[in-house]
Amino acid sequence: MAGAPFDDRDGQIWLDGKLIPWRDATLHVLSHALHYASAVFEGVRVYNGKVFKLTEHSQRLIDSAEMLGMKIPYTVEELDAATLETVKANNIVDGYIRPIAWRGSEMMGVSAQATKVHVAIATWEWPSYFSPEMRKKGIRLTQSKWRRPAPDTAPVHAKAAGLYMICTMSKHAAEDKGYDDSLFLNWKGQIAEATGANIFLLMPDGKLHTPKPDCFLNGITRQTVIGLAKKAGYEVIEREIELEELADAQEVFVTGTAAEVTPVGEIDQYKFTPGKVCETLIEAYEKEVGKTG
Ligand code: PMP
Repeated sequence: MAGAPFDDRDGQIWLDGKLIPWRDATLHVLSHALHYASAVFEGVRVYNGKVFKLTEHSQRLIDSAEMLGMKIPYTVEELDAATLETVKANNIVDGYIRPIAWRGSEMMGVSAQATKVHVAIATWEWPSYFSPEMRKKGIRLTQSKWRRPAPDTAPVHAKAAGLYMICTMSKHAAEDKGYDDSLFLNWKGQIAEATGANIFLLMPDGKLHTPKPDCFLNGITRQTVIGLAKKAGYEVIEREIELEELADAQEVFVTGTAAEVTPVGEIDQYKFTPGKVCETLIEAYEKEVGKTG
């Protein structure tokens, strides 16, 4: 399942302004980012040779860095161009792109004022995050023992490496119990999101309800899907949602660059059957991104 390790592949990676051989894109063990999580990143998709919402992702990388007090030494336009150059150099038609920015090794300690901010962009072929069978029946989630931190305890709107510590721990705990992914509650005990995707519920009022993104990413896919749902005639309500409300939900799905629109079949004792709304939005999303086949 793992395939070739990510440090031992053919291809080219864009690093600090130019493309270099894949295996040469290394960094020192005394890099600030490795010790203090001073890194922000993006997850972007290429569909049929076209990068979906590239500028939104480049902008979010810059914004995430800024939230951590890091200044990326490139403009949105430069990041867009570098991404396209990387995709082209690697001949990626349907794949994933991982831009990342991090603090280097000029200082080693909590203070990092003099560190250089580096940027790398890698891309690889990558068909689907969840398998087709999983997507048809709906993925199975279990509640995480961790909660999304309150907005005054961490830079919760940044796509920051440090915030993924609890994502990996939660995902592992879920997988160890035979689940596909984990559901986070927020610091108040209300529904927040999955480990790498936002969540939507179709409620008995026929409307889509989704948690307000007050302590997690307002995902680019989330925003796209809200637009598509409205176009398809569904009202979308952003509000605080209690865990017990899952008992009334008729359909549940998650959204993310990697997850796309993925139906949820189960969240612990709550069961759902993917239906017309999931189907409609999966189709609409595939059309929007320009997916083939
Ligand atoms: N939440 C988390 C924790 C994520 O990692 C992601 C994926 N970037 C999302 C939500 C969804 O964001 P997007 O739709 O922009 O990919």
